[in-house]
Amino acid sequence: MKHLEHWTILSVIMFSMLFSGPMTGAWAEEATSNASGLSAQETETWDEYEEMVLTSENEDAHAAQREYTPAYGSGYTDPALNYWTLPMDIADEAAVWDVLMQPITVLNGKSFERPERTQITVRSEPSLDSPGIGVVTCENQGVHVLERGQEWSLIECYSASFFDSKVVNWNRLIQGYVQTKYLKEVKPDTSMGLVIDKLTQRLYLFREGRLYSELMVSTGKSNSKQPYNETRSGEFLLTTKVGTFKSDNMTCRIAIRFNSGDLLHEVPYVYSRSDKGYRKQEDALGKRASHGCIRVQRRLTPEGINMEWIYEHFNKNTKILIWEDWQGRQILEPEGDTQLYYNPDAKPSVAYYHSGDFCYACPKVSLQSFAYADLDTEPYSSLVRCPYCAPPLRRAEIEEINQLHALGGDHDPVLTEARSYCPMPQAEFKKIKGK
Ligand SMILES: [Zn+2]
Repeated sequence: MKHLEHWTILSVIMFSMLFSGPMTGAWAEEATSNASGLSAQETETWDEYEEMVLTSENEDAHAAQREYTPAYGSGYTDPALNYWTLPMDIADEAAVWDVLMQPITVLNGKSFERPERTQITVRSEPSLDSPGIGVVTCENQGVHVLERGQEWSLIECYSASFFDSKVVNWNRLIQGYVQTKYLKEVKPDTSMGLVIDKLTQRLYLFREGRLYSELMVSTGKSNSKQPYNETRSGEFLLTTKVGTFKSDNMTCRIAIRFNSGDLLHEVPYVYSRSDKGYRKQEDALGKRASHGCIRVQRRLTPEGINMEWIYEHFNKNTKILIWEDWQGRQILEPEGDTQLYYNPDAKPSVAYYHSGDFCYACPKVSLQSFAYADLDTEPYSSLVRCPYCAPPLRRAEIEEINQLHALGGDHDPVLTEARSYCPMPQAEFKKIKGK
């Protein structure tokens, strides 16, 4: 509905621009310096002018962002709506749901000993003798079939290389060949679907055709020694419950496998004296922090969702989409009149700003509303983002992320450097690692 209103306003502006004639003087300078091309002459008041400019910039921003799909820069066009062609825009709930419910093409690993841990090499040519350019994980990882042949098919996917994969090519979108006999279609479970956006570091849980709840996550953080920590993007199926496992000094509860060694699990804790020490890793939610797994919040969202809920309620073959944070992608700022909530009487240690009028951080308190535009002014500027209800980031935080992801920059130079030697066979990678 909101979307429609914007388009109506835009067409009125376009229409009035057609008949406004040439602009002169100071107003014209003001107007030409503005990317939207509007002038205040065409509106009644400054307030109206500013509102219209903001609206049209937001529309432009939306339009610009919709060119980013998982197959961005692929070179192959596909007219169908699927994971690969879906704009990475969570606002289009119907399209996201469509994709979550579509069949997925995976590689059949049945003939192998541990099918979910088996990977098949993607070849540069339709032949077993041709060099490998990446790998696909059997059973769980979706592939985009570009050309289906009798013996070999051309596919597209993000290479699912781990430290020990036969070919190393760290989470790069590749196009190459696999044997057609391995391709099979799987219908995903229809009770829910998940989207992980590496740009926003959030999990979006979909039920019954709409975005149902939003949670904070941490995806993988690569470093020069472990470029394989970057969480592999793509379309996957949640399959096996793994339960609890240890990683360094951390304990990771309720893990579900979706891509070989990459699991979805609760934010880990360390033992500190007798307490469970969640603090450090919980504070890192919303930022990259893991070795490749996706850590999910344990606190309840207003809809009553946390990692434990997902673990208990998901069925085998629930689809999970992982969106790549392509350079150029930007987080769109919430509208200024977006309502946030707070408790004026909260103790300083729990003085949070919330996304709705109910929150499990303070379920018995009646919260007061204020506008997102006022978040950086008193008395709201000292409020801390609530760790339960995943409210929007502050403007400065969004700007910082957007600057890193601005077109022409490089938000992950470590990974860029590590990719300079990819694709590479494992044996050669071992030599590099040993040096
Ligand atoms: Zn809250």
